[in-house]
Amino acid sequence: MRGAMDSILDAIGQTPIVKLQRIGAELEAEIYVKCEYLQPSGSGKDRVARRMIEAAEASGALAPGGTIVEATTGNTGAALAACAAVLGYKCAFVVPDRVSAEKIAALRAYGAKVVVTPSAVDPDDPKSMRPVARELAASIPGAWLVDQWENELNPKGHRLSTGAEIWEQTGGELDAIVAGIGSGGTLTGIGRHLKSKRRDIAVVGVDPVGSLIHDFVVSGRVTPPTAFELEGIGVDFFPKTLDAGVLDEVVRVDDGAAFRMARDLVRLEGLYVGGSSGAAVAGAIEWARRVGGPRKVLVLLPDGAGGYLSKIFNDEWMTEHGFLAETEGLGTVRALIQQKGGAGVITAKHTDRVRDVIGRMKSNGISQLPVMRDGELIGAVAEVDLLRYLVSGESSLDGEVAPLVERDYSLVDPGTPIETLQARMNEARMAIVLDEGRVVGVVTKIDLIDYLARRAV
Ligand code: PMP
Repeated sequence: MRGAMDSILDAIGQTPIVKLQRIGAELEAEIYVKCEYLQPSGSGKDRVARRMIEAAEASGALAPGGTIVEATTGNTGAALAACAAVLGYKCAFVVPDRVSAEKIAALRAYGAKVVVTPSAVDPDDPKSMRPVARELAASIPGAWLVDQWENELNPKGHRLSTGAEIWEQTGGELDAIVAGIGSGGTLTGIGRHLKSKRRDIAVVGVDPVGSLIHDFVVSGRVTPPTAFELEGIGVDFFPKTLDAGVLDEVVRVDDGAAFRMARDLVRLEGLYVGGSSGAAVAGAIEWARRVGGPRKVLVLLPDGAGGYLSKIFNDEWMTEHGFLAETEGLGTVRALIQQKGGAGVITAKHTDRVRDVIGRMKSNGISQLPVMRDGELIGAVAEVDLLRYLVSGESSLDGEVAPLVERDYSLVDPGTPIETLQARMNEARMAIVLDEGRVVGVVTKIDLIDYLARRAV
């Protein structure tokens, strides 16, 4: 028929860019969104799934009758499954258990086999999604493991498709691109393309509280990952497909702020999007407010609301998780710091002698302190680190404190909700509060107990 496409795969790409009407209207910047959620399988992953499959066919890794295997939080799986339906392959996917029931049901609707693995395990644990996917691929004859976190065609596909399309659509009239980071393929690909055209376009990543990327980019350190509810973005390992060199900045967003923004995007703008879209817009607004100026900011909206109806768009689930209204919750880290009072934060320089650091802890009655180099946070030192050092026998009180620096802390900011802080303190010894790169507070478990106890009276 005239005007018809050969298959749904030919409908991939050419998503609209839309200006936000209400959200962010108070900003000097203009916020635009690219509707990747309008693609055939419901996400931006369609663009790379087809390319990865075609390359595997060309190399012989995937042959007729073969099975496509992947670890996924749903969207890469759906994109691969849609291609597999058209091209005649079978699919088997491994998903972590935080993935919504709707997204798992969608994979099964495409006819895929789905294996669910625990989210709360170390990424190298044999029960974790990627090792399970490797096992699964090894056990199925004719299986091809996609591995979106290592597959170079993931960022390359986004460079050639999403990046080129954005440049063409906007005529290069944009000052910043903002996207959440999962495998990092989307932002790496788009960022590389846009920077090759105009170096001054800011590439801003959005990372959930609990993921590794933000703290690594800000402090150069890997702080322990903690649990979060956002799907599709956030990592507990470093994906090879992320080129941190292309990022100008990483903004961190917590689950609650991301989910509330997703609900606002649906209700105030008619954009039917999911949680990572909410995170990206919330991060973009925070960035635009901070840098100021009449910038044109483009934000990627990766997937739709339909995958999250039982979670983000379900008031009961949102309330149970303390996500519904920040003001009705336990307050923020800012309130805790204010209540704690005191005279600023006591820190050490990396060249300070151990003897002086012990003296500073003693005279201020504290048991740990952040360590700085040239005004930047490089880690923290705590009583236990000093003890270990002193009993090791190789210790010298005149040695520099730098080798004792530990990373057993969590980075939060003043706007972090107390609920999020509490969740992070389950696993970290203390939290360091950073406000635009400056250390503005140190929070220990007893500070948190004191804050909550005072609220309770
Ligand atoms: N949002 C959602 C919902 C996703 O599924 C993904 C892909 N994991 C992303 C954002 C991030 O994309 P990328 O993997 O390219 O960083």
